[in-house]
Amino acid sequence: MTYPRFDNSYARLPGHLFARVLPEPVAAPRLVVLNVDLARAIGCDPGMLGTQEGLGWLSGNAVPPGAEPLAAAYAGHQFGVWSPQLGDGRAVLLGEILGPDGARRDLGLKGSGRTPWSRGGDGRAWIGPVLREYLLSEAMHALGVPTTRALAVVLTGEEVMRDGPRPGAILTRVAASHIRIGTFQYLAARRDREGLAALVRHAIDRHWPGVAGAEGLLRAVVAAQARLVAQWMAVGFVHGVMNTDNMTVSGETIDYGPCAFLDGYDPGAVFSSIDRHGRYAWGNQPAIALWNLAQFASALIVLEEDAEEAVARMGAVLRGFGPLFEAERDARLAARIGLPPGDEARALVEELLALMAAGGSDFTATFTALGEGGARDRIADRAGHDAWEARWRRAGPDAALMARSNPRVIPRNHLIEAAISRAVAGDFAPFHAMLAAVTRPFSPDPLHERPPGPGERVTQTFCGT
Ligand code: AMP
Ligand code: MG
Repeated sequence: MTYPRFDNSYARLPGHLFARVLPEPVAAPRLVVLNVDLARAIGCDPGMLGTQEGLGWLSGNAVPPGAEPLAAAYAGHQFGVWSPQLGDGRAVLLGEILGPDGARRDLGLKGSGRTPWSRGGDGRAWIGPVLREYLLSEAMHALGVPTTRALAVVLTGEEVMRDGPRPGAILTRVAASHIRIGTFQYLAARRDREGLAALVRHAIDRHWPGVAGAEGLLRAVVAAQARLVAQWMAVGFVHGVMNTDNMTVSGETIDYGPCAFLDGYDPGAVFSSIDRHGRYAWGNQPAIALWNLAQFASALIVLEEDAEEAVARMGAVLRGFGPLFEAERDARLAARIGLPPGDEARALVEELLALMAAGGSDFTATFTALGEGGARDRIADRAGHDAWEARWRRAGPDAALMARSNPRVIPRNHLIEAAISRAVAGDFAPFHAMLAAVTRPFSPDPLHERPPGPGERVTQTFCGT
């Protein structure tokens, strides 16, 4: 058996970026799920993780050799409101491991106990949000969307108090890094130019080797986030809490709190119970991403001698977001109707989406149906559909392109909720069945691909506290 190889570069950054804290031990850890393929891919021996020693690491009862656990400090705009002091309140970074592919990845625990940033919270998590994140992040990965990943879930054998007592659990998360826009904002707000310069170098070394300076970093992050949010829009993903502390510089999706996939198509869809004004509605996501990137640019400008000139340069970089985002989204949506990107595909997609919005057609199932002979049954406006379909057919859609661009299975909210309530009752079979389905999204699975019936729809999600 081999131990993972740790090399903790984040722990070598300026000390006020983090606090060294150990995970708090738990009473009776029990493994619920281990992502064997992921373990192998990142250089963690899955056999080792399955032993008592491995279970110790995944539960916080022991720390793997070479790990230097820490909780990260950051700041951020939450729902547009500035918060100068945030941080990992229920998570620790164990460290960075070097994989057989040469990639460096963060390995962290979520739900591992209190840290200096827990404030009133217990630092714990219950099984609901933990299974939710596992399903959602692994589904996103299977759909080809950049994301943090889930390596394991353990039950702690302890209860946590939420609305009532709930089974406690810990998620082991794998990420390209946990560097957030809020991490830069934290240093910028303190006018810590030295720390900021070190973090810029660190982020560049880690994610964008070769790019030059703060402006190069901004350009790279703008491009990565434009691609990421375009992918969300093409699969119908609503992040739900796009605060600047929940946006990575790596371009991976992070923080699966109140997120959801669209069932019926509605550009104004909001699921998060705390998003009262729809700031993070599905259709607002590109604009919010750009707003967040502007906050990133503002943080980086603290490094510049001539702020006025820097504002102009960084502004030009930010203006690159729109065209990159649109090109990526248009290409992906064009593929979903089997066409190459271009004006004709864009017009057809727009009209199809308008028909879908008018009747609340299921976003995923409508595209699948199109590839399988026609979506007539999915669109309420039959005449509108028929006129659209005739034009679409004349454009010559490519069936093979549609088959590989239209996932059949997405992690549907009502099935996630059902799997969680069964898990709370001790039955993990629905969770495992759903995990198998969402990680093979292009394979038929009648149970998991069926949209919710009118009485089954779950329209509200909650932050994973
Ligand atoms: P998150 O949803 O993880 O982005 O959390 C938002 C903020 O609340 C972060 O500062 C977290 O560290 C903190 N937080 C969330 N849940 C807990 C908890 N159970 N105990 C302590 N802090 C928490
Ligand atoms: Mg967060």
